Amino acid sequence: MSAPSTSCRIDVFWHDGMLDHDTGKGVFDTGMNPGFLEVLEKHPENSDRIRNIVSILRKGPISSYISWHSGSPATIHQLLSFHSQEYVDMLIEADKNGGHHAQPTQADGYCFFNNAGLAVQLALDSGCKKVLVLDIDVHYGNGTAEGFYRSDKVLTVSLHMNHGSWGPSHPQNGTVDELGEGEGFGYNLNVPLPNGSGDKGYGYAMRELVIPAVEKFEPDMMVLVIGQDSSAFLKLNVVYPEVACYPPANRNCLKRVNI
Ligand SMILES: [Zn+2]
Repeated sequence: MSAPSTSCRIDVFWHDGMLDHDTGKGVFDTGMNPGFLEVLEKHPENSDRIRNIVSILRKGPISSYISWHSGSPATIHQLLSFHSQEYVDMLIEADKNGGHHAQPTQADGYCFFNNAGLAVQLALDSGCKKVLVLDIDVHYGNGTAEGFYRSDKVLTVSLHMNHGSWGPSHPQNGTVDELGEGEGFGYNLNVPLPNGSGDKGYGYAMRELVIPAVEKFEPDMMVLVIGQDSSAFLKLNVVYPEVACYPPANRNCLKRVNI
């Protein structure tokens, strides 16, 4: 593979502390064997999964595009840029992981702190005027959307399976009519995709909806939330086998938004 140009470079920030996250074994929420299991599996959100992601990035097909940097734990001040004081106080002693479902005041979908939301807020605090969040996880990036729902400085775009709400911790539905509120009205774009959308449907949604919105917004920076669960190769998509398999449709579309 030839040396990548700087416009194709991906910066990865890594800290070994990411491997300390231990969610235990058992029936996922109880950690107990109900009496009829042969083995207690690890919780799906575990450090082996992180190890493999790092290994793929180091040795896999995109390794030559990656520039590695050392990451550092978020400061309390940084956490408070997205989450409420009360919520942070509650979690402060715990070693918790991050993800796009975590909302400013509550955990959701294995996510406690919202790493995408923190990156966006840090960018705004550092002088960026407009930030785009493009979320291609198979689930709605509800936490990030909620955090910037009333802001016109952040365009949150999420392409996801049409799964709706999954309970009190996840009240957002991810439907097209969740458009933002107040100054943020029109700055949340939800693209719920029906099962069976596949590459064609995914490419169509990207071309007809996402790219025009991004080009109109003209962001200074983009935070890409890559949930590998929307890939045809990944485990979660066995449950939803026909929802968008993003390569190669995404590759071409993402090139057009300059990442
Ligand atoms: Zn997901």
